[in-house]
Amino acid sequence: MKPTPPLLTDPRIRAAYSEGAGIYRIVPTAVAVPRGVEELQEVVRWAGATGTPLVPRGAGSGMAGGSVGRGAVVDLSQGFHWTAPDWARRRLWAGASVTWAELAAAARPFGLRLPPDPSSGAFATSGGMAATNAAGPRSVRCGSARSWIEAIEIIDAAGDARRVVRGAGAGERFALSADQQHLIEAHFPKTRKNSAGYALNHFADSGDELDLLVGSEGTLAFITAVEWRLEPIPADVAGAALGFADLRQLAEAVPYLVALNPSAVELLDRTLLDVVREAGAPPAADVPEGLEGLLLIEFERETQAAARGVVGDAVRGLRASTVHVATAVDRAGLETLWAVRRLASPALARLPENRRSLQVVEDGCVPLERLADYIGGIRVASEGCGIPVAIFGHAGDGHVHVNALPDLTVSGWRDALAALYADAAELLLRLGGTPSGEHGVGRLRAGLLERFYGPEVTALFRGLKQAYDPRCTLNPGVIIPSADWAPLADLKVGPEAAPIPHDIAARLREVERTAGWAIPKLDLATPSP
Ligand SMILES: Cc1cc2nc3c(=O)[nH]c(=O)nc-3n(C[C@H](O)[C@H](O)[C@H](O)COP(=O)(O)OP(=O)(O)OC[C@H]3O[C@@H](n4cnc5c(N)ncnc54)[C@H](O)[C@@H]3O)c2cc1C
Repeated sequence: MKPTPPLLTDPRIRAAYSEGAGIYRIVPTAVAVPRGVEELQEVVRWAGATGTPLVPRGAGSGMAGGSVGRGAVVDLSQGFHWTAPDWARRRLWAGASVTWAELAAAARPFGLRLPPDPSSGAFATSGGMAATNAAGPRSVRCGSARSWIEAIEIIDAAGDARRVVRGAGAGERFALSADQQHLIEAHFPKTRKNSAGYALNHFADSGDELDLLVGSEGTLAFITAVEWRLEPIPADVAGAALGFADLRQLAEAVPYLVALNPSAVELLDRTLLDVVREAGAPPAADVPEGLEGLLLIEFERETQAAARGVVGDAVRGLRASTVHVATAVDRAGLETLWAVRRLASPALARLPENRRSLQVVEDGCVPLERLADYIGGIRVASEGCGIPVAIFGHAGDGHVHVNALPDLTVSGWRDALAALYADAAELLLRLGGTPSGEHGVGRLRAGLLERFYGPEVTALFRGLKQAYDPRCTLNPGVIIPSADWAPLADLKVGPEAAPIPHDIAARLREVERTAGWAIPKLDLATPSP
């Protein structure tokens, strides 16, 4: 057997990799930070030979616990930093470490962009975005990452490197019969977005292996590079902020807005507006008072007149149900309107222990016509469990983030959180939704998939995993649940959180509070002078 590849086992380093965004703290047995494909291959082959589980990781900003685990965490955020553009064909190869923001900065001078725009773009890596099928506010028009990926380079579970290209077919490992395709058609949710489980529906449509690997959350292969397709930046943009005194009226306005072909329709509910206001929103940010919810809408068009015209249509069409309207006719004006949206995640992350923001039911997505029922049902569940929630995000896709805000200083919060988790899953099932619109399944939702897809489709998921990773080396417990799956175990909060050095725990909390996910995690392990 080959000698052990460079693995870091210092307890401080392992502690620095014990948390990502989301709710978990799990201290890994080791960490590897490969400096390129060959070093990564060495790690994968060694893990296969020794039966060591590997946890692929980018920036660690994933919400569902896919980038933390008990095996060896393999950090791809450092050693895969290269780009190879082909601006004439509007294509860009990016190494797994390259962030959305770096892609955007490279493409902008050529009038191009990567349309899916995760709010985490400053730190989310190309590998992480492809592995989770990430999305963003503009996904209401442009879809999720999947539709913008032309090819990927992977290292499979055997340690072999290869390129998987759109249009190249299904590969040799996995196929679906006609009966299985019908099963998939019958059991996949009819939502505009879905990042829960392997995308067998897309695979059935395209016949492309690429569709199996995009969104596979590090459970089928490591992604070492992504070929992104880019689009020209539209010439003009306009938008509006529309305030509602009633959340049902707000939700019912969304299908009308979506029919106008917007580039974004984002929601902030009353709780979130209060949180942003309390966090001290800068004076430029317009945070209107007395609303149940606010919709931020953006329309991109080829001419100024067209962009302004459609905003006028939207405002007029909703005059009867809105109680606040502010419009923006250019990019600068829109930036001001959107400041409140950009403050949402930072304001939530900074809440104190008596209102800690936890992502346990944060990613549900329902068919657009059920959005009002979903928001209403979540509010009822929240009141029933005694856990306040902040609701925000991608209303135009029927996909809203629900951050639970439990008081961790009051006993019983864990049971209340478990009740909210159960109620939200029940509600999503009833409404034909999916538990993940963009963040993925991770550890958090792995055990839910069978209820959403049924036993036959989940058997196909298991078959796919077996075909690509027969020894279950790659991210065990993610997507396919472990035998002892418990979504609210291994929390980073509360007295049972795994013990790690205090200074590292404080730095990890600071990363969360400041969205400092781009900080190399090895830096967090360095003792203060
Ligand atoms: C403030 C904030 C805002 C966010 N906003 C959005 C948003 O608007 N839209 C959205 O979609 N998400 C959002 N997220 C979640 C997160 O940023 C995305 O899921 C992102 O795509 C994760 O990228 P990452 O590099 O951090 O991956 P990680 O968190 O490190 O990993 C995520 C998953 O991908 C796997 N993985 C990572 N890299 C690789 C690789 N190279 N090969 C194989 N598997 C890999 C991991 O094993 C894990 O399962 C947000 C997160 C935060 C903290």
